[in-house]
Amino acid sequence: MEKSLWHNEIKLPSFHSLKGDIKTDVLIVGGGLCGLLCAYYLKKAGIDCIVAESNKIASGTSGNTTAKITSLHGAIYGDLIEKSGIETAQKYFDINQQAIKEYEKIAKSADCDFKESTAYTYSLNDSEKIEKEYNALLKLGAPIKPDSKISLPFKVSAIVGLQGQAEFNPLKFIKYIAEGLDIYENTRILEVNDNVAYYSGGKIMAQKIIIATHFPFINKHGFYFLKQYQYRSYVIALENAPNVGGMYVDEADGGLSFRNYGNFLLLGGCGARTGKPCGNWTKLTEYKEKYYPNSKEKYRWATQDCMSLDKIPFIGKYSAKKPDLLVATGFNKWGMTSSMVSAMILTDMIKGTKNEYADIFDPSRSILKPQLAINCFETLANYIIPTTKRCPHLGCALKWNKYERSWDCSCHGSRFEKQGKLINNPANKDMK
Ligand SMILES: Cc1cc2nc3c(=O)[nH]c(=O)nc-3n(C[C@H](O)[C@H](O)[C@H](O)COP(=O)(O)OP(=O)(O)OC[C@H]3O[C@@H](n4cnc5c(N)ncnc54)[C@H](O)[C@@H]3O)c2cc1C
Repeated sequence: MEKSLWHNEIKLPSFHSLKGDIKTDVLIVGGGLCGLLCAYYLKKAGIDCIVAESNKIASGTSGNTTAKITSLHGAIYGDLIEKSGIETAQKYFDINQQAIKEYEKIAKSADCDFKESTAYTYSLNDSEKIEKEYNALLKLGAPIKPDSKISLPFKVSAIVGLQGQAEFNPLKFIKYIAEGLDIYENTRILEVNDNVAYYSGGKIMAQKIIIATHFPFINKHGFYFLKQYQYRSYVIALENAPNVGGMYVDEADGGLSFRNYGNFLLLGGCGARTGKPCGNWTKLTEYKEKYYPNSKEKYRWATQDCMSLDKIPFIGKYSAKKPDLLVATGFNKWGMTSSMVSAMILTDMIKGTKNEYADIFDPSRSILKPQLAINCFETLANYIIPTTKRCPHLGCALKWNKYERSWDCSCHGSRFEKQGKLINNPANKDMK
């Protein structure tokens, strides 16, 4: 499997796996950026917590991200104002801006190549969409970049930039925050029943349990398998490519993303819903040849993220009926700030402090019906395809991904190696 630039360059510490039964105030399931940030803030608040990670910390999406820390999530604010109202959009913007400030604070003592940067969203052919985003950002009082001198290798029809955003090395950051946390690797949680989590070596009893496994794996509550899906994207790290002077993303599905890190230019995109055909590295390499013919590809990798249907993450109670079970998921490819927002909100919930932003992320909010119907249709259509390769999560047909040599599920995004070993959840066991 291809390794990201970050994993090629940074070695993270290892942690023992858990043995026997244990008691804690808070159990965090999943040692990605989200789970680790929750643990970092809980520990700072003096709350006893442990992290159970099925593999190695940051082995999931967090170790394969492009690590732009920004509140400019593509072109989201125009739609948010239109569909959810100005108050929701303002809260979403404000807490994401606060999340950037939190990173800035930690980065003062963490060696993680954190630096301020401008984030841009561009469009190749929909200037109205960018204009709508610009106007929305104006209404929210966002620090819009006044000029639009850009260093992209093609013409855009419109672009909007936000100042005071940031970029960093996610693994250097994770190495720093993981220090001193109570982490158990190779400890997969198989089942959660009220305040008890079960793994192959015993059980963990906790007053609160946070599910930070990227895609939640408990199906009997919360209906996350209906409320979100996964989207897979591809990245190449180029040497001898120019500095583009900021972080860029195309507002369109499958478009390109750009940022530099050291001597590298990270070119990302060409993705699709996991299990569906897309441009993948083939298309990205064509772009490299077209736009940066003198550059050299040093690393390539791919990863996926959970997409909520209304573009707002799910952070809070796993379901209204389960007050001790919490969740953070559905980051829509903007998990740097969203992981920080999760840590801020969930720490407050556990401390019993009111958080004025929590309501907009409430996982029990109602989801727009047309999008829900499309997502259900995808699941049903896959369910009836005749095949012997089925996903152990909910029985959908798996498709062979010849570029990555994996069996992929387009319903919820679980993936398996050729011989059936689990790569990506929500499935929680190998394929038969
Ligand atoms: C190509 C790409 C580029 C991106 N770039 C950006 C960007 O520039 N800026 C940005 O803000 N966001 C970006 N994102 C999104 C961001 O990287 C993710 O949202 C974020 O890393 C998710 O973090 P996480 O901790 O929720 O998930 P993960 O990092 O996947 O962590 C979940 C962990 O849970 C573990 N786990 C799973 N099941 C179990 C179990 N049963 N028991 C125990 N452990 C379990 C997994 O092994 C994993 O380590 C990008 C996403 C993609 C796909």
